[in-house]
Amino acid sequence: MSIKRILVYPEDCLTKVAKPVTVFEDPSLKTLVQDMADTMYDAPGVGLAAPQIGVSLRVAITDVDWRSEEGSGSRDYKVWINPEFLWKSETTDFTEEGCLSVPDIYGEVERPNAVRLRWQDLTGKVFEEDFEGFQAVALQHEFDHLDGKVFIDYFSPLKRRMIVKRLKKKYLS
Ligand SMILES: [Zn+2]
Repeated sequence: MSIKRILVYPEDCLTKVAKPVTVFEDPSLKTLVQDMADTMYDAPGVGLAAPQIGVSLRVAITDVDWRSEEGSGSRDYKVWINPEFLWKSETTDFTEEGCLSVPDIYGEVERPNAVRLRWQDLTGKVFEEDFEGFQAVALQHEFDHLDGKVFIDYFSPLKRRMIVKRLKKKYLS
């Protein structure tokens, strides 16, 4: 069990495009995912991307049921490696989002409310599946991290500048 420090925006790794995973069935990849899970549940959060703990690889995990009231409360996270959206719906939803790397900031983001995703698991096996609702939103939020984006990038430049200033002063000075 290893809980890693979660980077705060705009720390370096969070603004970079992460590299694809090319080596599967690898102990270091397994360890990375386990560390990400330990870190996510400790935070606590419902999703975490590798760049958030300083690893610039296209790996993310989510457990959207974990904290919901209908959820089981048990830990059952999903691993997404080299994820790629094959399709996004034209219909959108506004969802209030927050991020472990943007502490104490929340705001509504408009995103497609259904997606088709292709991804790989820890063994390199390829999957394709459709997702909708909160799961679809969570996936888009997490995979933005793999492209060096965070949810406040959807805010106005003025609002974003104010948030970055506040984060730098509070967490990075
Ligand atoms: Zn995030």
